[in-house]
Amino acid sequence: MMEEQNNDSLQLGQDLPFSQDLQFSQDSFRDLWDNVATPSISTIPTATECSEAWKADGQAFMMLHCSTLTQFDEKIFDLPLEVSAKDDATPPASTVPVTSDYPGEYGFKLRFQKSGTAKSVTSTFSEILNKLYCQLAKTSPVEVLVTRDPPAGAVLRATAVYKKTEHVADVVRRCPHHQNEDTVEHRSHLIRVEGSQRAQYFEDPHTKRQSVTVPYEPPQLGSEITTILLSFMCNSSCMGGMNRRPILTILTLESPEGAVLGRRCFEVRICACPGRDRKTEEENNTKMQNGTKQTKKRKSAPAPDMTVKKSKSASSGDEDEKDVFVLHVRGRDRFEMLKKINDAFEIADKENKAKAKSSKLDVPVPSCGKRLLQKGVTDSD
Ligand SMILES: [Zn+2]
Repeated sequence: MMEEQNNDSLQLGQDLPFSQDLQFSQDSFRDLWDNVATPSISTIPTATECSEAWKADGQAFMMLHCSTLTQFDEKIFDLPLEVSAKDDATPPASTVPVTSDYPGEYGFKLRFQKSGTAKSVTSTFSEILNKLYCQLAKTSPVEVLVTRDPPAGAVLRATAVYKKTEHVADVVRRCPHHQNEDTVEHRSHLIRVEGSQRAQYFEDPHTKRQSVTVPYEPPQLGSEITTILLSFMCNSSCMGGMNRRPILTILTLESPEGAVLGRRCFEVRICACPGRDRKTEEENNTKMQNGTKQTKKRKSAPAPDMTVKKSKSASSGDEDEKDVFVLHVRGRDRFEMLKKINDAFEIADKENKAKAKSSKLDVPVPSCGKRLLQKGVTDSD
């Protein structure tokens, strides 16, 4: 078969996905491949976010080329520069905190006040994303609920941990700048408990992870909740600190002996505009959700195309290429860029089809395709 020949000429690693779900004909892909500078294999994005979203569809290929095609938003990979160098040198902490929710026998759970997404809001929680958005050093009330009283002397402990696997071994601390500005003893701690003289700050001697505890107080008469006040002392973007790496806050209910009785986790983003960021991320999430649903259905019944257009005129006689697949893309810039690539494929397909009528085998990419890709030409016939 022609397709197999083309695969051979690609000489790609076997671990790269190349399923039949791929949106573009392999012929077109090969043409694209031949016409862009071949990226070194080390430039393949490894961020889990990318892999999860893209691998399944074989779209990782497209990502590969995106980086060679246009100016690319580097934030897409969310990989801080320090990671590769630093993580390799420092052995990861032996204990990685557990981040799964566990109500336990006391029915431990959290609730957040409904603050909305107004511009002025300093702390707001997204139920959809299980994510707290707050401003630096502003108080975020967290309501603690239990279904029955925990043992006397129980404490609540707050710990921060990086959300992504590739960062989880790093300990979350404040950035040097904010630490130096501060004078309190626990100035390196990101999370503080406000409004309690009984807050205690800990650093695990082995893992160096930091946490803050406050004694659990039963709800006051007539109330069902206990409120603790958390504040976060760096921005998510702080250089030398979180450095744009997303974090989770783990809140545990612990016995006086330190046994975990319940656990709840939520993501935290500390930023200048919590309301705006929450709104944006919730909207993006809704789009993503729709995309996921359609992706799952895809095999049995391809959903109507809403984002990346793919005409039916792909390639003659190949059922796979007649299928239309939906790809939901987060952010307009990214969408426009991916659309450009797909458009290039479309044009190449059309041209190929036209040329295939005259010469049957292995058609080189047409000149208009090259222009769109904005890359040097190295055709080998
Ligand atoms: Zn900072």
